[in-house]
Amino acid sequence: MSVVRDVLAKIKATDPDQFEFHQAAEEVLSSLEPTVQKHPEFVKAGIYERIVEPDRALQFRVPWVDDKGNVKVNRGYRVQFNNAIGPYKGGLRFHPSVNLGILKFLGFEQVFKNALTTLPMGGGKGGADFEPKGKSDGEVMRFCQGFMRELEKHIGADTDVPAGDIGVGGREIGYMYGYYKKLRNEHTGVLTGKGLDWGGSLIRPEATGYGCVYFAAEMLATRKESFQGKTVAVSGAGNVAQYTIEKVNELGGKCISLCDSSSTIVDPAGIDRDKLAFVMQLKNEQRGRISDYASRYPGVSCYVGESIWDVIKNHGLKVDVALPSATQNEIDGSHAQALVKAGCTCVAEGANMPSTPEAIHVYQESRILYGPGKAANAGGVATSGLEMSQNSMRLSWTREEVDQRLHGIMKSIHKACLSAADAYGRPGDYVTGANIAGFLKVARAMHAYGVV
Ligand code: NDP
Repeated sequence: MSVVRDVLAKIKATDPDQFEFHQAAEEVLSSLEPTVQKHPEFVKAGIYERIVEPDRALQFRVPWVDDKGNVKVNRGYRVQFNNAIGPYKGGLRFHPSVNLGILKFLGFEQVFKNALTTLPMGGGKGGADFEPKGKSDGEVMRFCQGFMRELEKHIGADTDVPAGDIGVGGREIGYMYGYYKKLRNEHTGVLTGKGLDWGGSLIRPEATGYGCVYFAAEMLATRKESFQGKTVAVSGAGNVAQYTIEKVNELGGKCISLCDSSSTIVDPAGIDRDKLAFVMQLKNEQRGRISDYASRYPGVSCYVGESIWDVIKNHGLKVDVALPSATQNEIDGSHAQALVKAGCTCVAEGANMPSTPEAIHVYQESRILYGPGKAANAGGVATSGLEMSQNSMRLSWTREEVDQRLHGIMKSIHKACLSAADAYGRPGDYVTGANIAGFLKVARAMHAYGVV
């Protein structure tokens, strides 16, 4: 048996219920096979066995009090996966589905993604099985404070720097940072995604969406194409989806969809700047449902209980580019087949692992451009890295400066993916390229440290 197959078998036997983690590990490790032959020193040093095991996984109780005075309890986590090349870095997710397996998948992906950014950041992820939807600001604040009461013992500007993810945006980061500051009496870069007046970076809110579009534009350019005139399907309606649409509009494309966990809207006329401003107000301020968009604008269809990928499959919509920006495993093999049939030639993942292995197989067989999340959505964490640099220097860069750096980083990630794919015999394969380029940097550092 190869070392890669041994490691995968061990993961599955040890933690049989962590399906998302198995999926992520299998995707990464199977593409690392070519490194096994080229780097016997990594095999000897047990790098493949060690890289799939988090440095530590913390689990804790989060008690809080709701508006009626009832005591509630949620489960909080922080998975500190690997700090070989820098402090642990990765978001916090608040969603009822959160469990250790999902956070291990996200933390594992983050290790390779962060290495790809060229910045010195290790990988981690955390969160809680808390549902912010339907809670008052006061309830969210008390939950965030309860969460930070424990988390503050384990994080620090040079140790572990969390950020946002699903269910954690500017409001939640504010409550958590405010409480950290109160507990520790220090104003330091311990969280990213902060507000501009208290240590945040310009362009951080935009960075994941903008970065994903920059990456997709680089992929399209390899086929002498661009976003100009393209019809684009976007899923999600949160942070990533919103700024993805803003950048596609800027580059001359037309985004026709948004969805949340209740429904999908399709607007054939395109989601222009004014409509996007409405979505931002609806989602970020009123915390409403995307179906309201269909009541407000004429000619818009609303599909309750269907994702945009279901709509493409069931109702035969035509799209040129797909930018999934909601959650893991939202596109399965049949959705991917429907996308190819719909004329889609490029998929770039704003979300983490939105495509199942069957979907990825369809993209690869059909030879459409496919940018996996760990490369395509790395702009968010890269700009978090830039926020950390500004915090350390106690300086703020301009919007143009941060955007220019983000754009440069996305281009260099794109180039690194293609170079590694070429060097390891899989030209044009962004999955292999991203995994190998990220892995080599972390593996070399782990090797240098000896067995620790
Ligand atoms: P948000 O919480 O801002 O938005 C998530 C959106 O996706 C919401 O509209 C939500 O709908 C929808 N959604 C969540 N789960 C489901 C589901 N099961 N089915 C359908 N829709 C769903 O999160 P982000 O935009 O920050 O994150 C989106 C994705 O991007 C995630 O995979 C995240 O890990 C990834 N990502 C985010 C980064 C960032 O900087 N924020 C960085 C890199 C990756 P509803 O409101 O109904 O829950």
